[in-house]
Amino acid sequence: MADEICSHMEALGGQLKHPKELVCEECIKTGGDWVHLRTCQTCGATLCCDNSRAKHMTKHFHQTGHPVIISAEPGEQWLWCYKDNLFAEYS
Ligand SMILES: [Zn+2]
Ligand SMILES: [Zn+2]
Ligand SMILES: [Zn+2]
Repeated sequence: MADEICSHMEALGGQLKHPKELVCEECIKTGGDWVHLRTCQTCGATLCCDNSRAKHMTKHFHQTGHPVIISAEPGEQWLWCYKDNLFAEYS
């Protein structure tokens, strides 16, 4: 885990939830497409990023309050906390 992390990241205890499938769970219902994928660290939902038209992950945060996501993109190893606006890389 990175050095500078918030309490929400710390609460994960280093156990990250990775995407089950590399699709946005909401976009596939409506036939929409997405740019990048993120995985919610509270419930494991994989949803699309803010560069995607539907911004499903940000909507998910506003609906659920689940604070921490990771990038679901292969090769990217970072977390983001919506509540603290904090970015952290992990190895
Ligand atoms: Zn936080
Ligand atoms: Zn989406
Ligand atoms: Zn969630």
